[in-house]
Amino acid sequence: MQVFFEIKTLQAYLQNQRQLSKSVGFVPTMGALHQGHLSLIETAKNQNDIVVCSIFVNPTQFNNPHDLAVYPRTLEADCKMLEEANCDIVFAPSATEMYPSLPTLKFDFGTLENVMEGKFRPGHFNGVGIVVSKLFNIVQPNKAYFGQKDLQQCAVINCLVKDLSFSLDLVICPTQREKDGLAMSSRNRNLSEEQRVIAPEIYKSLTASAALLKNQSSTAVKQFIKEYFDVIEDIELEYFEISDFETLLPIEELSVGKTALCIAAFMGKTRLIDNIII
Ligand code: AMP
Repeated sequence: MQVFFEIKTLQAYLQNQRQLSKSVGFVPTMGALHQGHLSLIETAKNQNDIVVCSIFVNPTQFNNPHDLAVYPRTLEADCKMLEEANCDIVFAPSATEMYPSLPTLKFDFGTLENVMEGKFRPGHFNGVGIVVSKLFNIVQPNKAYFGQKDLQQCAVINCLVKDLSFSLDLVICPTQREKDGLAMSSRNRNLSEEQRVIAPEIYKSLTASAALLKNQSSTAVKQFIKEYFDVIEDIELEYFEISDFETLLPIEELSVGKTALCIAAFMGKTRLIDNIII
């Protein structure tokens, strides 16, 4: 496995690989890797000749300075995990390598900006759009891999690829969970022992509301979720939405196979998101 810190040297290497007709799979991450990330690497390995994983905690997508400051950074351990997963290339640029100057370009993802992550994290998707566009241009992959865990991000990147004609296929991979149902996340490392015990309630609330939605209105299910978290002191619900799984716009009625239940909640200062598609 080779580790690159500079855009130019990575590009020279990849150009060589492309001339040898090697297909390139790309997994962008912010590091602090876990089994969820590794499942993307594994899928990418099965579908491409070489796999590039980027590790970059992108400052432009953090609207909360505290969140950026405490975001876990574990490059050495990450590289070890990637090597064991047979990843071929790690790209771990510094912030100044990626942003010699702050970009002036701004993305607007339309209705996606007004709901859930777009609504509660203003500017977040602009930062995602900037960094993912830069990474796509640097790596020029044949396929790029993202997790359903960040469902709205998948919709944003789909829009980016379509509107800017990026010549690559997007592959969305299923959410990997801990045994107790908690969606794997780098942010889980910031939970205290007590918080970690209660955190699976987030996923449990989603499965419970999926069952309810079969014979109750969306208003009743939303009320159920509100009351569910009212009695759990350590979890503060930010939003719960019943949405179309592609547009992410709210829907009133269950449409089987196309309905996403999406949630964001705080445990102390740690913000967790999850979703299921029913
Ligand atoms: P992050 O490092 O959190 O930016 O995530 C990098 C990629 O891994 C994104 O495409 C995420 O959606 C994906 N990912 C994060 N957690 C999981 C998970 N539990 N299961 C599957 N994919 C995930």
